[in-house]
Formats: sequence, structure tokens, C-alpha cells
Amino acid sequence: MSSVDSNHTMPTQDARLAGRVALVTGAGAGIGRACALGFARAGAKIAACDISSDALELLAAELRAMGTSVYTATADVSAASDVASLFNGAAETLGPIDIALNNAGIASPLRPLAATREDDFDRVMGVNLKGVWLCMREALRHMEPRQAGVIINMASAMSFKSYPGSGLYTASKHAVAGLTKNTAVEYAQKGIRVNALCPGNVLTPLLELSVSQEVLDQLAAGHPVGRLGTPEEIAACATFLASEDSKFMTGALLSVDGGWTAL
Ligand code: NAD
Repeated sequence: MSSVDSNHTMPTQDARLAGRVALVTGAGAGIGRACALGFARAGAKIAACDISSDALELLAAELRAMGTSVYTATADVSAASDVASLFNGAAETLGPIDIALNNAGIASPLRPLAATREDDFDRVMGVNLKGVWLCMREALRHMEPRQAGVIINMASAMSFKSYPGSGLYTASKHAVAGLTKNTAVEYAQKGIRVNALCPGNVLTPLLELSVSQEVLDQLAAGHPVGRLGTPEEIAACATFLASEDSKFMTGALLSVDGGWTAL
């Protein structure tokens, strides 16, 4: 009998994004952080942006320890000049940008519509919609001359449904879905794919800080799988959308939500 266990296989190296430059916004925490690490594990160089420099430092140290080439920029995605510097700095440091994951987003305070405030509207739309628009526009300016690139927007299950009190967030995510589809069609013949991920509720600082434990439990129970998602489960789908495995996909709004929108 052979001493080699024929069922034992060496873990295969994931090289789906080998040598690609992937830019991730809101990479300091939650889903963005998991996606940056997931892209790096698949071989990508990472340009990471966040509004919080401390969170970025921690991520950069972790990425460098994995042997990943890293560029970081503290930037506010709702400011056009920050976004332009981010993309230009990333391309100058790491090379042309192949993948842009427009992930940075914020929650709106849970309030019925009559109690919503103008500053909340401006803040939520500024980050969630204007931020995605600015990052897509800049990504396209970098990608169009090469006729190649992948854009992934972080939409939400709230791109399809509603939740009482979350009108501003819901409106911003419906808008991201529309912008994704429209841009995908415009650039389909230019070698650039544009898709969106639509997560259900995922345990991250955004969710934990915006609702009570009681609401978290209700949300978990409301997903047909009976639990919240993990950032890594969203990152696995982001890597799929970033890779050639999804090369016939553009204009898709990919639900990753434990069945929540299928209810
Ligand atoms: P999070 O709050 O845990 O992390 C978001 C990161 O974005 C933070 O590091 C934050 O500092 C950064 N950020 C915030 N505003 C920024 C700005 N103006 N410029 C640059 N960076 C900024 O959030 P998360 O839960 O990981 O959410 C990430 C994305 O996923 C968001 O777009 C969110 O709407 C979306 N999403 C989250 C859930 C969920 O349940 N957590 C579900 C669906 C969609």
C-alpha cells in the first residue's frame, strides 16, 4: 500500500487575478476590507482607499505581510479631487487599473420619511451615489483608452426592496443599480464590464453601529438561511465578478443575500 494518501491534494494557489491592479474604496473595514484581502489572495496588487487613515494602515500592513504590492490613499469618495488623485496615484504606483470596486458607503439613520433631514440626504447621497458616480467616471477615464477593465459597484438588497425607516439608503442603492445597468450598456463594446453586488445583511461595523442587537436578530431571522452574511462571503463573489470566470457578465445585479430578496 502506498504511504501517499491519494485523497490528499495540496491547496491550489488562486491566481485568478494574478498581476491585476485592483482599486477598492472603503477598504478599511467590513466588506471592502474583506474584498481587498480576497483580491490579494487571488494575486492582485491592491490600491486601497478609505476616509479613515488608521484603518488603511492596518490593512496595508496585513497586505504587505502577504507579499502584496499596495498603494493606499486617504480619500473621501464624495470629493471629485480626492477621487482623481486616488486613481492617478494608484495607476502611477501600481500600473494601469484593471479592477475598480466602488464599495465605500454609509447607512442613513432609521427614520420615517417625514422626519428625514436635508443633511442626512446630502451625506448619504454624497457617499453612496455621488461617490460611486465619481469613482465610475474616473475608472472609465483610466480604462477606456485600454479598452479593458472591470467595474464592480457595491449596491445592496435594498436596490430591490425596502425597509421601513431606510428611505434615503434605499433610494441611494436603487440609484446605484440604475447607474450600473446604464453604464454597462454604454461600455459593453469597449471591453469594460460593469456589474453590481447586492448583499443582504452582513455583519460589519456599518450594520452593527446603525441598528440594535434586537434588530440584528430580526434581520438574521428574516433571511431564509436564518443568519447574516459574512464579509468573506461577499468578497468571494467580488473576486468572481473581478475575474475572467464572469467574462460574459455585464449589467448584472448579483444578489448575495441568503435568499432575502427571493422571499
Ligand atoms: P463599513 O462601515 O463596515 O465599512 C465601510 C468603510 O467605508 C469604512 O472603512 C469607512 O471608513 C469607509 N468610508 C465611509 N465613507 C467613506 C468615504 N466618504 N470615502 C471613503 N471611504 C469611506 O460598511 P460595510 O458594511 O462594509 O459596507 C460596505 C458597502 O457595502 C457599502 O456600500 C454598504 O452600503 C454596502 N452594503 C452593506 C451591507 C451590510 O449589511 N453591511 C449590505 C448591503 C450593502
